[in-house]
Amino acid sequence: MTEMEEQSGPPTTLIDPIDMSKLDTKFREQIKSMPNSEELSACFACSTCTAACPIANIWQYKPHQLIRMIILGMKEEVLSSSEIWLCLTCYQCQERCPQKVRVTDIFFDCKNLAAEEGKVPSNIIGLGKELLEKGQLYTVTADWEREDLGLEPAVPGLSVEAVKTILKETRTNKLVEGGE
Ligand code: SF4
Ligand code: SF4
Repeated sequence: MTEMEEQSGPPTTLIDPIDMSKLDTKFREQIKSMPNSEELSACFACSTCTAACPIANIWQYKPHQLIRMIILGMKEEVLSSSEIWLCLTCYQCQERCPQKVRVTDIFFDCKNLAAEEGKVPSNIIGLGKELLEKGQLYTVTADWEREDLGLEPAVPGLSVEAVKTILKETRTNKLVEGGE
């Protein structure tokens, strides 16, 4: 199948019959008990969120499908999906949803639930470890480069030690150490 065919064809997921016996009816209530799901039930599956998403074309489950899966109670599939972690948190979907469903924020809730169940991808754990060790994910440009760009030699207000101290008291620390 060519790339064009893949992008313009019908979704390849959720076409297979759903095994009703595997649905977790409490999952939707679990998500709804969190602060971002006030309008979840208002979703009418218009797919605007997916149309707005810059990377949905490479996702197995598209944003509108994930929202539908949450409503249906497909807990295992949602919390084990790579998509919730691949989300760029750009909020394009959420901004455009005509029903005011907080798509991006709901994906954050899913990540929190996945973390509670120990379903965090190893690359995300790796990023957390890096953050705890260095206080930043990306090395700040060297002093001489900043000077060449006409910037102050040091980044104003940057304290990686403070970041490290704060992170040690958070759940990120427990996650990295395998305590969550
Ligand atoms: S844009 Fe909003 S209403 Fe439309 S499918 Fe996405 S979440 Fe549902
Ligand atoms: S926030 Fe995530 S799901 Fe929404 S448009 Fe951006 S990448 Fe896609």
